[in-house]
Amino acid sequence: MTPKPNSAKKEPSSGKRPGSGTRLEKISDLSRKELKERARKFSGKFSVGDGDGFELKKYRTDPDIDLGPEDKPLMQQTLKTGVAALAELQDKLYAHDRWSLLLIFQAMDAAGKDGAIKHVMSGINPQGCQVTSFKAPNPEELDHDYLWRCQKQLPERGRIGIFNRSYYEEVLVVRVHENILHAQKLPENLVTKDIWKDRYKDIRNFEKYLYHNGTKVIKFFLNVSKEEQKKRFIERIDNPDKNWKFSSADAKERSFWKDYMKAYEEMIRETSTKESPWYVVPADNKSFARIVIVSAVIDALVGMKLSYPEVTDDKLAELQEIKKALLSEKH
Ligand code: ATP
Ligand code: MG
Repeated sequence: MTPKPNSAKKEPSSGKRPGSGTRLEKISDLSRKELKERARKFSGKFSVGDGDGFELKKYRTDPDIDLGPEDKPLMQQTLKTGVAALAELQDKLYAHDRWSLLLIFQAMDAAGKDGAIKHVMSGINPQGCQVTSFKAPNPEELDHDYLWRCQKQLPERGRIGIFNRSYYEEVLVVRVHENILHAQKLPENLVTKDIWKDRYKDIRNFEKYLYHNGTKVIKFFLNVSKEEQKKRFIERIDNPDKNWKFSSADAKERSFWKDYMKAYEEMIRETSTKESPWYVVPADNKSFARIVIVSAVIDALVGMKLSYPEVTDDKLAELQEIKKALLSEKH
């Protein structure tokens, strides 16, 4: 793999582009410990910890290194190492039983949310992890505030929760299609021009509240290009095994691309915080996106300074006694 020469992709207007200079070789042959350290640096390039002045156009949808078919084994190996490191950390998270981690995935259709969740979490113990997919709210959900249905699915201490879409739809699809907002049965005098600002603030405060109570929230926007989405839609239409994944609604939402990008940009600007950053993940290359995500999850877990509960001397002595008794059993 070679660094990409002047890519045809849009250049950032200023500053260093996230991902620039990244070489995958550097995170492939590492020990788990080194990987954890390197993961921080790698994922950091894509994280938005302070949303002030955030501009989506400064973030690429493709990795800025050429990744050909010959790089596939290396990518797979890197992901495998990351997944194994993640599994170890999850075990510690569970044993430590203080923190929980909530991963939120948001993206346009066919950006690869499902595949990313499947691959990144492939080494995770299912007992310590729960995935929830949020679709359009049902009548019961519409009878409550919009966080209600999400709150019920928050991860317990020691566990990882994954939201495949989330309360962020409330400032995305609901913003792009205001008729959805009007169907939400809110008191009319609360639906003002400030409603989006209010929602950003409520979400920021909600995530702050969760953090203060031991739930760390990190958010992934899978940043796919409009061209790549088109390619994936056509693949879904051409491949009978993928037909089920495509709906005419997906094509309809595509026609609102610009509105969605504006909504995503403002959402990231308004809801990125140090404790709950957004990661703007280049998603045109699925394997690369998965490596970025696994790195970010490792980074979040490493930051929790997890440890296995300490075993007291008394407990150790007791264990030795039990072992002795087991070994001296006659049959
Ligand atoms: P995939 O298409 O890959 O199976 P998906 O996440 O797109 O996964 P769908 O069932 O196609 O799943 O879509 C869910 C739909 O529900 C999306 O169009 C999303 O915008 C919509 N949705 C989610 N939350 C809300 C909400 N709060 N209000 C309105 N629509 C919502
Ligand atoms: Mg869909």
